Amino acid sequence: MENILKGKKVALIDMDGVIYDSMKYHTKAWKRLMDEQGVPCSEEDIYLNEGMTGPAVINLLYNRAFGHGISREKADEMYALKTKYFREIGFNDPMPGTDRMLKALERHGIRRILVTGSSQASLIENINNDYPGAFMPGDRVTALDVTHGKPDPEPYLKGLAIAGVKPEEAIVIENAPLGVRAGKGAGVFTIAVTTGPIPAEAFEREGADSIFPSMPAFANYLDSLSDK
Ligand code: CA
Repeated sequence: MENILKGKKVALIDMDGVIYDSMKYHTKAWKRLMDEQGVPCSEEDIYLNEGMTGPAVINLLYNRAFGHGISREKADEMYALKTKYFREIGFNDPMPGTDRMLKALERHGIRRILVTGSSQASLIENINNDYPGAFMPGDRVTALDVTHGKPDPEPYLKGLAIAGVKPEEAIVIENAPLGVRAGKGAGVFTIAVTTGPIPAEAFEREGADSIFPSMPAFANYLDSLSDK
């Protein structure tokens, strides 16, 4: 395989399903919320729509069930409840292999920037404890910084702006098809790491430039690269 870090300066890195093994908890929190509301919601719904903002997911599920969305206020209220459920059942499980992946990027001189569609403070606040030194202060884009969540390219364009680099000088590291679409939309070489149940074909359809079967496999690849 070619050296995918050749000419690259920056890695724009997603959080849920990449930094943290948190999708299983998000799925449980979503299902609890939607069961209470009588809105059908499968595990697949959550994984395939991962990356969208919370209110956008709520409107999508409501539209499918009832043929109409809900008001912004009600969606915000429901999303606050989902966030509460996540805090109750979720743990900060670092993704196995990610620490090694981040250290390999650092060794290769690649600056790491967090780009998450989440505003889940219980995870974002813990990154510096769980991955000391992996991200510099200010090197992060969260749901609070963008108007359009993924699959809009905006979060990744903001990440490029923070780093002051061109799209061709960066890579995106994602675990979700809509995240891959956002990365590609920003013109960035986008790597999909399949850390959940979504088959590789879903990432191929979105035009992922490179697909790894697991985070340890991606870390092994980065470790195998000689210095640029
Ligand atoms: Ca993700």
